[in-house]
Amino acid sequence: MYADVQLFINGSWRDSLSGKTIPVINPATEEVIGHVAHAGIPDLDLALAAAAEGFATWRRTSAFARSKLLRKAADLLRERAERIALILTLEQGKPLAEARSEVLAAADTIDWFAEEARRAYGRVVPARAEGIHQLVIKEPVGPVAAFTPWNFPVNQVVRKLSAALAAGCSIIVKAAEETPGSPAELIRAFVDAGVPDGVIGLVYGVPAEISEHLIPHPVIRKISFTGSTAIGKQLAALAGLHMKRVTMELGGHAPAIVFDDADLDVAAKILATAKFRNAGQICVAPTRFLVQEKVYEAFVDKLAAHAKDLKVGDGAAEGTTMGPLANERRIPALEGLIQDAVQQGAEIVAGGGRIGNKGYFFEPTVLANVPTTARAMNEEPFGPLALVLPFRDFDDAVAEANRLPYGLASYAVTRSAKTATALAQEVESGMLTINHLGLALPEVPFGGIKDSGYGSEGGLEAIEAYLNTKFVSQGSL
Ligand code: NAD
Repeated sequence: MYADVQLFINGSWRDSLSGKTIPVINPATEEVIGHVAHAGIPDLDLALAAAAEGFATWRRTSAFARSKLLRKAADLLRERAERIALILTLEQGKPLAEARSEVLAAADTIDWFAEEARRAYGRVVPARAEGIHQLVIKEPVGPVAAFTPWNFPVNQVVRKLSAALAAGCSIIVKAAEETPGSPAELIRAFVDAGVPDGVIGLVYGVPAEISEHLIPHPVIRKISFTGSTAIGKQLAALAGLHMKRVTMELGGHAPAIVFDDADLDVAAKILATAKFRNAGQICVAPTRFLVQEKVYEAFVDKLAAHAKDLKVGDGAAEGTTMGPLANERRIPALEGLIQDAVQQGAEIVAGGGRIGNKGYFFEPTVLANVPTTARAMNEEPFGPLALVLPFRDFDDAVAEANRLPYGLASYAVTRSAKTATALAQEVESGMLTINHLGLALPEVPFGGIKDSGYGSEGGLEAIEAYLNTKFVSQGSL
């Protein structure tokens, strides 16, 4: 079922010039299920030359034709969703139902950008003198280098890939080495839809070696990265040195604020769903559960009940509602955070540790009364760990919500329109969802502020990141 994964350079699937490969591990079984080609610098140079040629072709392809091709790729992805979902689950661990939704959501994203391609309008500015035409023209920024992580192997790629293609850019994707098969299938859909040679490149290898080669390279004009804040800052600094446009989707530490007028059953259900999906390995997952004193105990019980209800297992098995962690290094990371919080006085109300010793399974964990000095309250846990603590009033909750340098997603549950409006003004985050889960659709902005990065990967802002604005003033002789 799981085939070895090759590089895609200049219209061909091929091994690396050195023949080197990297093993791919199923996180549910710890078995090596395949290998992915490991690009060296000579492979990257071929990809760069192809991206320059691909850009020359693609920027001259009409927006109408680009849009049609994107729609075809979306349709192919839908037709192949079942097979790609299984590949995704085998390499990443998430339950098949989640993998299937990810692939289908990717098709929706492509359709959205297919429409945006046809609406990348410029404008005409009224001139001060007769016979002058002042035109504002949108042009593709140029070849893009995109770096994507392993938590949503398809969706993290598709946001960058389809926005770049819609705008008329070529792109080299460095997808995650841990989860290479499903992004390769995404790209295969574009290839089979007829994308010209060189417009898309796909490489894997040593992340730092690839970013250090691609970002400064003169062919590359735009960088887009999704991953941790620490790496994002390094890459943004490198891009700054070479004056490259940048989009950064980085870490988060989302507050989820539950007010005492909330429907607690709804609050616990939606927040538990958001927390434990993809085993909590989501940059927008709720992490600090701030609960108003009067309903604190009741909410903790309900959240713990949801956590205990999850069926943790192999994502490919029937009935699994939470898969393993995607890689082994998250286990000691989570254990360390939990141990530190407990030493500082936190109480374990659900889960707390690894399950078994084969596969990277971890219990859905809820910690109550977690002090703000605990490491987990300050570092992104990136796993199935919910941290709950009480708050007194609105100001108290907002102060804690805004305490950290992160500002990606935030959540709130309240029946009060006044509270909801005040939250929208006061919470420092790129996204806020109140009383339901409403983040990450292709048509709405997706991105953070502060240490969570800059730029948006959704909504009408998303294509702008791949466009230059050119002004032309034309007189008549
Ligand atoms: P990491 O920081 O080592 O890597 C994160 C991602 O960045 C990986 O896909 C990796 O391949 C890539 N990367 C690392 N160094 C790079 C470099 N020099 N150049 C280009 N790409 C590079 O962390 P990890 O152990 O893989 O994941 C854990 C942390 O990463 C989490 O705590 C979380 O903060 C962050 N993360 C965030 C997202 C997100 O959606 N924003 C996704 C995955 C991981």
